[in-house]
Amino acid sequence: MSMNLAGGLWLTSTGRLARRLLHDFRRARIQGERSAWERPDVASLKVWLDREWNESWPETLPAPDLRRMGAWSAVMEDTPPPEPLEKGVSLCRLLDETYGILVRHGIDPHSGPPSTPLVEWRRIASRRFSSRLADQGYFHPEELISHVPEAMRQQAITPPTDCSVLGFEFPSPREKDLFSFLQKVSNVSFIQPQRSVPGHVTATALPTPEQETTYLCGRLVEDARHIPLHRIGVIVPNVETYGPTLSSNLEDLLGNTPQTGENWFNITLGSPLSRLPLFTASLLPLRFFLEGEKRETLLSLVLSTYYGLRREERHSAARADRTWLKKGVSSGLDELRRCIESTRSKENDLLRDWFERLKELRNSMPSGGRAPSSWIDLLSRTWEIFGFPVLADEQDRLAWRHLSTVIQEFRTDMNDRAMSAAEFVEWFTHRASLERTQPERPEDAGIQIMGIIEARGLEFDKLYLLDMNDHSLPQPVRPLPLMDGSERARVQGGTAESQFEFARVVFNRILHSAPSIELLRAEQDGTKPLTPSPFWPEEPVHRTINIWTDPDPSWLRASWLRAAWERAADSGNNGDDTPSRADRTLSPPSVLHKKLSRGLSPSRLKTALSCPFIFLVKEMLGVEPLEEAEAPPSRRERGERLHRIFASFSDMARKSGIDLVENRDDARQLIERCVSKEFADVADHPGWRLEARRLLGSADAAFPGIFEQWLDLEAEHRSKGWRCLTEECSFTNLTVQECPFPVRGIMDRIDFNEQEGWLCLDYKTGRLPSRGDLCSRFTEPQLAVYFMALREWASSQKNTIDNAPCAAGYIHVKSLNAMEYRIVPCVGESLDRWREIIADMGRLLADGRFDPRPYPFSNVKKPDALCSECPFRTTCVRGLSRDLPAAENGDEEADRDH
Ligand code: SF4
Repeated sequence: MSMNLAGGLWLTSTGRLARRLLHDFRRARIQGERSAWERPDVASLKVWLDREWNESWPETLPAPDLRRMGAWSAVMEDTPPPEPLEKGVSLCRLLDETYGILVRHGIDPHSGPPSTPLVEWRRIASRRFSSRLADQGYFHPEELISHVPEAMRQQAITPPTDCSVLGFEFPSPREKDLFSFLQKVSNVSFIQPQRSVPGHVTATALPTPEQETTYLCGRLVEDARHIPLHRIGVIVPNVETYGPTLSSNLEDLLGNTPQTGENWFNITLGSPLSRLPLFTASLLPLRFFLEGEKRETLLSLVLSTYYGLRREERHSAARADRTWLKKGVSSGLDELRRCIESTRSKENDLLRDWFERLKELRNSMPSGGRAPSSWIDLLSRTWEIFGFPVLADEQDRLAWRHLSTVIQEFRTDMNDRAMSAAEFVEWFTHRASLERTQPERPEDAGIQIMGIIEARGLEFDKLYLLDMNDHSLPQPVRPLPLMDGSERARVQGGTAESQFEFARVVFNRILHSAPSIELLRAEQDGTKPLTPSPFWPEEPVHRTINIWTDPDPSWLRASWLRAAWERAADSGNNGDDTPSRADRTLSPPSVLHKKLSRGLSPSRLKTALSCPFIFLVKEMLGVEPLEEAEAPPSRRERGERLHRIFASFSDMARKSGIDLVENRDDARQLIERCVSKEFADVADHPGWRLEARRLLGSADAAFPGIFEQWLDLEAEHRSKGWRCLTEECSFTNLTVQECPFPVRGIMDRIDFNEQEGWLCLDYKTGRLPSRGDLCSRFTEPQLAVYFMALREWASSQKNTIDNAPCAAGYIHVKSLNAMEYRIVPCVGESLDRWREIIADMGRLLADGRFDPRPYPFSNVKKPDALCSECPFRTTCVRGLSRDLPAAENGDEEADRDH
């Protein structure tokens, strides 16, 4: 846009347009090789009004936001709102916005024809609000547009001699009044900066908003090859929604800053201070007390990088959360503290400082209302105690600067009313939500990404208009709940007609903003189909984008995509069974070999059989997905405790000679003793108390205890001639032919029967493996390994029958409905095959072949299904390279097998 700006005042609708005019002016002067020039007087209407008013030595000033909010809040004390409205920040905000809209549209906010009780109340409140502000020497900022012409009439302000007006395609009534006045006292020209003919329009529909932004970013990169960046524009009706995704996609594609020091793109939106992490962190100490001293808030506070207190050790505090979860403690500073102190763990030492200081803070928290400055003082002291803020980068420094401004405003503009801690936090957050933070960068450089209003008057070589759906253009009717029908009819956006008319004018302006315009829309958002805007052309192009399977050249600039795609393509070329390059060259360091030579347990063997890569990551490198912390009793802990109870029961029954078939009372008393001994350290916890009742039963329960039913089964088992010889029987050096490593483990229990021989039994408190997993698919090696170990153990026993047969099975004690003794005969029959599989697996591991290859030696129909639910998928190339089949339904399969 080259415009001769010499002479007079240039008034624009937006600050962006004013800055763009100045930028183009400067550029034209530099290109004309002028060494100096006079700065033209270009300003947005708002800036010009403020400037003129301030320079006239006024006696009253536009009221800052917090002063207005404070005035509305005070007014509501005397003029309470009708039900169901409630006093508070939101209502103050709504009143203030309504007041501003009415003034802007030339409607008297103080009076009018008789209306609804709500509107009458608003008018009374507005009168008191204005008079309260006037007493303090202030007025509402929207009234400035009337005050300035008035001051010109009274010759307190000199009108401009020449005035050019740009970018007011839809002036408000007050703006029209101002321009009419200026026309009487100045030479006013209304400038049409845009092209006289509309640009060429294309339209592209994409399936989802994500694809819409992905497609747009690819197009922008292409355009940037031949169009100066600042001549490319993107108009986004909902910048708040699209801005963050656009910004991160463009940063992926283009990097942060070009070497010239300018910017690749420019989103003027900025972020509200209240959304920045530093602000969220700043209120954590107060929120901890206001929200009931919750575990999560305490943890957020301790782990926050914005607090310096013992920051080097803070990561170890994360372990405290698992302790709280496991012990079921969820809130209360004292409770949380007691729980950690009882563990005598490392985090106890770290958290002691936090507990102490939080206790001090709690003691100094006033219970009633206090002036905002008292709360600010308390907050500042708290920050000092906890070492806040630790600033990491430019964004943090910017946030801290803005936070300091908000604090200052609280001291000066809101100091005349008492508020509770909760009210303080609410007001503080409200004020921060209005504070926009924007990193300093030249606004006129780079691809321009802006909202509909900001785009007023601007011209581009290429322009994109996003989100062309009916919720964006036209926008929905504004709710304006504090206005009556006649007021809404006079307000722009108050009716569907006025929103449509506004959208029509805006769309027409956009069509005249560039020679080439591309309209974009998503057809669906989640499961919701989206309806196109009424201005959407009838014959759009439909496209789909998949950057993973068919990356666009511009997206291949993104290093993360390029790396993943090359890796995936590479893997695809090698075929299914060939490991990738990285895996092929991996040779096991001696430390891995050493670990392996200590022996493979059945559970590690099972992991290796399921996928050698998982074995490498989990068993050799010790990387494990964080276990889901469950409130007590967790499945794992329950299983461990039950195993110990079974072991101690059979051991004590044998040693004390209790006949479990004949002497049921003694058996019951013994199991009760075993349970109470095992649960002694958790007896206070309600979850474990309930578990004890579930196991032992109680007089008032409708069902017997689990152990009562188990004693029946145990008695039945023993009545068949079985006796329990030993429990927790470990083996450390079981040799499997041709396997380079020994196998080791612990057998839960060994029984003997004169007729049947030896029996190894494994207690299972969860799901039982199916017969297929044990004997035909070969995915569960545990029972086969125990069988081999049992044979070795039996051959070492003296005074027993030679060559007695061996067997293996389970004692399944999951619930009353899932309890049985099961001997699995096929395990003995499949031992030869198991030996081959274990030997093959051992050789593979010894060679360092930790291939990402599910079930390399098992008979599983769809081995790749394991990848679809593999927690290590993100570390593994196979997880990226293919569409994975759904996992087989293990339960169904297990049922069939049985
Ligand atoms: S994603 Fe598949 S191949 Fe990769 S580690 Fe997991 S199971 Fe193995």
